[in-house]
Amino acid sequence: MTFNFLSNRRILLNLLAVLAAIGGLWALYFFFFRPPPTLLGPPVVITRAEWGAAAPDLRLQNPKDREVFNTVVIHHSAMPIDERPREIQQVHMQGRNFQDIGYHFLIGREGRVYEGRSLAVHGAHVKEHNAGTLGIALLGNYEELEPTAEQIQRLRWLISTLMANHPLTHLAGHRDFLPGKTVCPGKNLAALLPKLAAELGLRFGTDGYVGPEPTPGILPPPVSSAADPEPVTPSH
Ligand SMILES: [Zn+2]
Repeated sequence: MTFNFLSNRRILLNLLAVLAAIGGLWALYFFFFRPPPTLLGPPVVITRAEWGAAAPDLRLQNPKDREVFNTVVIHHSAMPIDERPREIQQVHMQGRNFQDIGYHFLIGREGRVYEGRSLAVHGAHVKEHNAGTLGIALLGNYEELEPTAEQIQRLRWLISTLMANHPLTHLAGHRDFLPGKTVCPGKNLAALLPKLAAELGLRFGTDGYVGPEPTPGILPPPVSSAADPEPVTPSH
């Protein structure tokens, strides 16, 4: 009986040790390795009024005809990760003499989508390729950081939503239009773009770019350079 008692006790202790080990491993996983719960709620676009946008420059006139976008161009802001659209707008308008923030949309690292420049006008985001290209910037520097899952999820949602109202056929990174002249949107984000394009049913690259000259039935008359004197293209 004594032997059996000790044996049973040893089995019990071993069982408790195993349970403690399992509990310990679970706690280790829970506190150190478990991905943080996503805070991503239903997709919403934070309006210019909500993020405190300054009014566009009065020179920024909407063309009579609706802007036609065929290519979505992805950027990174390459600014500090705690940046806000308002700061980017200030850099674009005061530092670069743009008539408004250069991008049509921005997406923060937590997945917040911000309304940028009006979709009724050209962006100011790809040198000599602003006609017909819709600019979306992910906040952060993706030469150094990895985009967050929330950002990519929201980027996919945003583009698919825009595809319902715009005849988008292509997706490209900024650097695809200006090879060797910019690294934007950063190598870590650029690496994800061909797969993202495929998932959305878009072709990847710059082949869809039509150009600033009006093509009857495809592009509206371009805003003349006199009326649209934004001189510089963001480097990001
Ligand atoms: Zn860019």
